[in-house]
Amino acid sequence: MTTINNNFLKLNSSYLFSRIASEVKTYDSKNAGAPIISLGIGDVTQGLPSLAGQAMVDAIGDMLSPSTFRGYGPEQGYDFLRSAIVQSQYRSRNVDIDADEIFVSDGAKSDTANIQELFSDATRIAMNDPVYPVYVDSNVIGGRTGKWVDGRYEGVVYIPISSKNNYRFLLPDVPVDLIYVCSPNNPTGAVATKEELQRLVDFALDCGAVIIYDAAYESFIRDPRFPRSIYEIPRACECAIECNSLSKSAGFTGLRCAYTVVPKKLQVKDAEGTSHSLRDLWLRRQTTKFNGVAYPIQRAAAAMFTPEGQAQIRELTDYYLKNATIIRALLDETSLEFSGGLHAPYIWINVKQDSWECFRMLLEEARVVVTPGAGFGPSGEGHIRISAFAMRESVVSALQRLRPILLMNWKK
Ligand SMILES: *Cc1c(COP(=O)(O)O)cnc(C)c1O
Repeated sequence: MTTINNNFLKLNSSYLFSRIASEVKTYDSKNAGAPIISLGIGDVTQGLPSLAGQAMVDAIGDMLSPSTFRGYGPEQGYDFLRSAIVQSQYRSRNVDIDADEIFVSDGAKSDTANIQELFSDATRIAMNDPVYPVYVDSNVIGGRTGKWVDGRYEGVVYIPISSKNNYRFLLPDVPVDLIYVCSPNNPTGAVATKEELQRLVDFALDCGAVIIYDAAYESFIRDPRFPRSIYEIPRACECAIECNSLSKSAGFTGLRCAYTVVPKKLQVKDAEGTSHSLRDLWLRRQTTKFNGVAYPIQRAAAAMFTPEGQAQIRELTDYYLKNATIIRALLDETSLEFSGGLHAPYIWINVKQDSWECFRMLLEEARVVVTPGAGFGPSGEGHIRISAFAMRESVVSALQRLRPILLMNWKK
């Protein structure tokens, strides 16, 4: 008789954003009123950069003629894209990464969710809290956690990012094997400093841990004091895997293109104590389970890693950062404690009340959707996340509706 993977039963509920969408839909169908404005989901709203569009059009031209047609490409990505990533993201910042350490993929979601397959069942997991829920859920499915008890999974080391520490990045207080860090952080908007990442790398080297560094929001960093890659820290290539994506930088959420760096220097032992290259394992995994990203999409991605493409990314991310500035300005008028929105498209607000209750209150009184913090981990309770991914007009209208509610509830 077939039985299911029982780990699925440990998952506390549906994926956060599916639950929000279903609550909003139910509310909307029962309550007529002004259109609901979403500052909830982290999806981009502006059109694609023109260079990406042109590169795709050209690539489709290639696909129509037998002489330039491309069928299956290399599972790990075309050389033209891997070299463009190395040049634009690493060499230009004096970071030594080779093209054969880059794995092009269809998303940082899939990569950060799949990477756990490389590690043994006994791996002790630690992660920022709150953070992107994919890291913990994928490890629940992988069987590396206990049950969901009192808002947390047993066996997971949560590293709080909270108002107690001014939303700074801390280290695990026990030895662990795998540490997930997202910077700029989704949802807090906190950005790790060089010193914080140095401490993290020292900690990982010290206890033999591997860091999964999610840099999906790296392109929102404007202050050169904040590293844009963990490999800017000496010896990080001995202990860190870096994931990045064009989703939030170049608006590729609907196109799907990302990449993961697994440095050759990253060696991990098997149960017998023999060292193995994680890069070789990941290559083996990808060649087995993945058949590459569409050629026109990889051409579009490569166009974004030229100086002109980088300028278009800058313009696009500037738009969302301006939204964030407008949102922060309203919060400054209130007594609310908040972080983010400076080098990140998210603003994290300490509402000091049940986060789902606050979500419903804002939905009912302002018809504005925000994200309840509890969905991002135990330390997310008491907070909401506001996303700057929206059209400027929507942000302005949403803030007009939120203003009286926020000023009344959180008077300065
Ligand atoms: C949006 C997001 C991603 C991007 O995932 P894609 O699958 O590349 O679209 C990755 N990590 C975090 C933390 C995100 O918020």
